[in-house]
Amino acid sequence: MGRVWELAKRIYPLNRSISSEDNLKTLEILKEYIGNLNIKHWDIGESFSNWVIPKGWKCKNAWIIDEKNKKYCDFKERNLRLTSYSIPINKTINWSELKDHLHYSKELDKHQYPYTTSYYNKDWGFNVTYEEYKKLKNQNCKVFIDSEFLDNCPMHYGELILKGKTKKEIVITTYICHPSMGNNETSGICVASELARKFFEKKEVYEYSIRFIFIPETIGSIFYLRDNLNYLKKNTVFGLVLTCLGDDSTSFSMPLTYKKNGILDRCLNSLESSGYIFKKYPIEHRGSDERQFAWPTVDLDFTSISKTKYHEFREYHSSSDDLSYIREKSLIESCELIENIINNTSQNIKIKTTTIGEPFLMSLDLGSKIGGLFHNQNQKDMGTDLINVLWYSNGNNDTLDISSLLKLEFIYVLELQKICLNKGLAILSNDI
Ligand SMILES: [Zn+2]
Repeated sequence: MGRVWELAKRIYPLNRSISSEDNLKTLEILKEYIGNLNIKHWDIGESFSNWVIPKGWKCKNAWIIDEKNKKYCDFKERNLRLTSYSIPINKTINWSELKDHLHYSKELDKHQYPYTTSYYNKDWGFNVTYEEYKKLKNQNCKVFIDSEFLDNCPMHYGELILKGKTKKEIVITTYICHPSMGNNETSGICVASELARKFFEKKEVYEYSIRFIFIPETIGSIFYLRDNLNYLKKNTVFGLVLTCLGDDSTSFSMPLTYKKNGILDRCLNSLESSGYIFKKYPIEHRGSDERQFAWPTVDLDFTSISKTKYHEFREYHSSSDDLSYIREKSLIESCELIENIINNTSQNIKIKTTTIGEPFLMSLDLGSKIGGLFHNQNQKDMGTDLINVLWYSNGNNDTLDISSLLKLEFIYVLELQKICLNKGLAILSNDI
């Protein structure tokens, strides 16, 4: 078992919510894992637009006991049993009142129960399977929730900025606001933390700075934009929300909230040359923090990236999205993809051909020695690829574009571009 899976097991059980003590605990674990993380907060009552930072929340225990003394919804077994931000309660309740506080879904399998929250409405609730709902029907039950709203627990978030050669930056964000769920919480945190750890440890200076953000979804990203909007608008090259990156899917998905022909769009097209498959969803299918970072007044080149997108798997926002639903192998594959995106966009260059007509490759020791083969499409060699790279190096196309146009791997096209520069066949064109 690798370190990223150890991390998954540590953070999965915590009772995260929109603002809770366990959010802070999660960030402290991430700080230790990455080697560095600035843990910051917004104070309770701070407001922006029409959003207000709520009090923190914690829960020690919760359950329902029926007339036959049978226990249901034991919070200590799984915190997902309780509606997040439930107010405390300790009394016997009749069915007509209880039924309005039991959440189930007939669409789920019979052993599944949903995930629910009540952040802005002072209420309490439990999540049950439909079978449990039927068993509890018409009973008077003891209901116990030992929860508390905390004046001394502000809304915490984490930020780490790794400085590049320029102030231009890639933004990687994920959320820390769901209790024990695997794909739709733990996976995003694990992939973002593993990337942050790797890039922090490398100490290599990249072209772009990389900003990692760990925030409560929606309200967290809106407050983050309040504090950083001008800087982000000026310096963001593109951003990715990491979510649902732990399932078995071999393809990756994203809503089309990023800019067409922007560097991210062109990077994804280029990665298809390396065998990646991307499922692109209409903009109406956006759902995570890309809703805020790509909002018209914010207008950053942003999308979320998943294996199977939220809303698209049956286990989404239900008890079946547990740790057994995600795989260490998938977390590692997802890390590799985001690393490729960061590496490729950072190394991307544009060159411009300078020769009148094709260069004579044989004198450069690059081409095929046998002339006839040159025109055989099945017999591609490095010389043919180099000539094709030069063909597209008219000042309009960079490494990403040429990689997509020729369906060649980014790293190979970059190598050919560098040969062209070294052999004096092209000049660097710096207007990317
Ligand atoms: Zn969610």
